[in-house]
Amino acid sequence: MSLWETMNFTPRGTDRDLASMAEEIDHLSMLVKALATLCHQHGVFNEKQFEEMRDFIDLQDGVLDGKTKSEFKARVCPKCKKKVSPSAKKCMWCETAL
Ligand SMILES: [Zn+2]
Repeated sequence: MSLWETMNFTPRGTDRDLASMAEEIDHLSMLVKALATLCHQHGVFNEKQFEEMRDFIDLQDGVLDGKTKSEFKARVCPKCKKKVSPSAKKCMWCETAL
């Protein structure tokens, strides 16, 4: 995955296993590390500027939640208060109907 493909990365469906998702996260993490190291070496930005841009990008979906797409935001089970998938019919923790 190139840097430009990474910037437009969209998580795919839920049909993948954890191993392939972990592999993808590891790859993305490696690319971020390479980019951050290069930027640091060249004095491209400081930590405050990075945090401002991070929050600006985060807010493009209208929600400051550390994610690029707010539709992936988890719901909270009304009974046990744990996070559940937005599409779940029942809570995976306590099996309460949602
Ligand atoms: Zn629950």
